[in-house]
Amino acid sequence: ISAVIPQKCIAQYFVRGQDPCSLKWEQIKTEHFRIVFPKDFAKEAQRLAYLLERAYGPVSESLGQEARRIPVLIHNQGVESNGFVGWAPRRSEFFSQAPPDNYGQDWLEQLVIHEFRHVVQLEKLNHGLTKGLTIVFGEQATAAVAGVYLPFWFIEGDAVATETALSNSGRGRIPSFERGLKAQVLEKGTYSPEKAMFGSYKDYVPDHYELGYLMVAHARSHYGRDIWANVLSDVGRKPYPYAFNRALKKHSGHTTTGLYKETFEELKKHWQKDPLFNEPGVEEPLNPTSKLYTNYYRPQFFQDSMVVAVKTSLDKIPRIVSIDPRGKESTLCVPGYIDYNSLDAGAETLIWSETCPDIRWVHRSYSDIFCLKSGSRKRLTKKQRYFSPALSPDGQQIAVIESTPAYDFYISIIDANDGKLIRRYDPPVGTYPMQPSWSEDMQSILIISQDGNGKEILELKLADGSFASLHKAGFIEISGPEMIKGLVYYNAAYCGTEQVYVLDPQKGTSTRLTSAAFGAHDISINNKGRGIYSFYTSDGLKIASLANVSESIAFKNNDNYYGNGFDSILSSQEQRPEFKTDSNLLKAYKTEPYSKWSGLLKPHSWGPFYPNAADYEIKPGASILFHNLLSTSFLSLGYEYDLQNNYGDWSGSYEYKGWYPELSMNIKSGKRENIFSGGDNNTSLEWQKTSANLKALLPLSFSRGAYVQYFRPSISLLYIHAGKTARTLDFFQENQAMTFEYRLSYSLLHRSVARDMRVPLGFSVNVAFMHPLLKEFSAGKILTATSVLYLP
Ligand SMILES: [Zn+2]
Repeated sequence: ISAVIPQKCIAQYFVRGQDPCSLKWEQIKTEHFRIVFPKDFAKEAQRLAYLLERAYGPVSESLGQEARRIPVLIHNQGVESNGFVGWAPRRSEFFSQAPPDNYGQDWLEQLVIHEFRHVVQLEKLNHGLTKGLTIVFGEQATAAVAGVYLPFWFIEGDAVATETALSNSGRGRIPSFERGLKAQVLEKGTYSPEKAMFGSYKDYVPDHYELGYLMVAHARSHYGRDIWANVLSDVGRKPYPYAFNRALKKHSGHTTTGLYKETFEELKKHWQKDPLFNEPGVEEPLNPTSKLYTNYYRPQFFQDSMVVAVKTSLDKIPRIVSIDPRGKESTLCVPGYIDYNSLDAGAETLIWSETCPDIRWVHRSYSDIFCLKSGSRKRLTKKQRYFSPALSPDGQQIAVIESTPAYDFYISIIDANDGKLIRRYDPPVGTYPMQPSWSEDMQSILIISQDGNGKEILELKLADGSFASLHKAGFIEISGPEMIKGLVYYNAAYCGTEQVYVLDPQKGTSTRLTSAAFGAHDISINNKGRGIYSFYTSDGLKIASLANVSESIAFKNNDNYYGNGFDSILSSQEQRPEFKTDSNLLKAYKTEPYSKWSGLLKPHSWGPFYPNAADYEIKPGASILFHNLLSTSFLSLGYEYDLQNNYGDWSGSYEYKGWYPELSMNIKSGKRENIFSGGDNNTSLEWQKTSANLKALLPLSFSRGAYVQYFRPSISLLYIHAGKTARTLDFFQENQAMTFEYRLSYSLLHRSVARDMRVPLGFSVNVAFMHPLLKEFSAGKILTATSVLYLP
């Protein structure tokens, strides 16, 4: 979940992409929101409208700021779980697919609290000088003040603190959200504030959500709830250099650096007293050691003697690897955009899910099941929304969680050979199912279920579709249940770090199996009773081995929750929203059609300069910018002045991206002056230059495994006219030219990671042909071709 507030004001017209052009849109207007959504989301849109209104007061309260009515745009055609707030134009966009491994809160409730908090943060800036600037520049002024002065750690940390304060869940209560910094501080030491805030290509540095939450929560617990309201208010009123640091110093006595040091000095002392840190279990990693931060997700036994896992590292894209008994590692497969936690190993087959993007629409994507059998990778399903696949013990069926754009979920069974749907089971009403796994007799499937009371482990009886509750965890994080020899192994955070637990469903009692200092997850047990699981260290997730699991189950545990305590301090400072959905309220809002053509001519920003969206260049002049809510229509009008050549042009450009090909046109016109030197005098010749072009482009992209391909054919019509002005001398002849250009761009590029300066491997070609259309102007034909090759 991110707030998109770019660092530089020139990049603030943020566009992610478009939804399919076939969608019909509807809207619900409430007192404080306008929710715009595809028609098939109508049922959930009612609930969302209700949740937004319920959250409005509590989310704004601690910043003491009312927000003006804001549009909330829903994208439900993809499988991405995300949301953001953009400010030029001012709107919030929600991606409604719930994450396949969500924590104990409804996804829409989480989005509502977190994203609306970003809206309130920005509204809080809009006072004093910032408000004055919005009169001169429009909405881009607020975005620019936020981009220049508010650090990302604060923006996201405050939103995570809010989601934690206003719910029973939230990332502030999830141990795996804290483990990165905890392990780093205790094992490697506290990094410099610059490294912690700006990241590193050498070492893994936890992101600004994790860092920001701890700093924001620490400040609130020491300097009171209103500290951040006061800081934001000062920054907005007086956005002068170092505004954030000065305001923080005034209200807490600390600069950013001081707050960082104080936060981690205190946390370090607290973390050092964690009983599990002082008496951790002995974990000998069986994966090869690496100097680089490396994660092994979902380690499992495969083909008797091997261990497989999804490996991620700073220097390479994620891959599925195998480790043989001597510890030698080899790559089995480089998948596409794999869900790291989805790998499941059968005796001879590996299965997992990948996000498969649409070739044209950024906001449409699928989650399909892939398998690796006898060394070759095969796509089992096409254009589905299947998550967390689990292979049945006989290898013939796969259980998945299936979702729909309407926000319905099923536990579905598909054929492991051809991917065809066999049967769908409805989860209990009002619950979100996750992470299915088969019982050994194939009579039932275990799932994690989430509802208003948190999480529990349910057993689905396949014969009649009924559910039995095996274990209720409430708002303690649990995940990944697996039934092995009548016992249920799962991950749970009862001691404040995530560990592997064993549940005896007959007795209803749970026992802790692991004692990893920073967390252990996902045990896999072979038929000889040996177990492997992943455990977290400051160098990433490693694989541990347990010689005999059943002997270890007698482990005596003392599971007092050892957390940082911020969640209860934050909660005590706030009033929680009441999200209990009352069916009477749910039908209260009127749904109206929403036209794709609305908001086309509503300007969001203007100013005494001319930004060029294509090359991010800013020229003096004047401009007015229009950008609709659906991000399909972009109009800019203005006057730009070229300081080098001393001439000015009126210009207008328009782009429409809502159809399959993207259309764009622009026109520019201005006076030019040429000086002729003849004899003793210089003669000045003034004339009028007008140029225009019209372009249709098909931006297609295809991804396959480690590679992404772009195919972009386009046709353009270029026009140029040299005309007379009132001062043009008589001998000047008017002239014009019109040209057609056909262009074809193709690239095949290896996916890259943050450490790559360039594409590691790939090539691109660009072929263009131009020919004149008007005979008056004699011009030849031009054929050009360029190519770039990227080698390691
Ligand atoms: Zn955010």
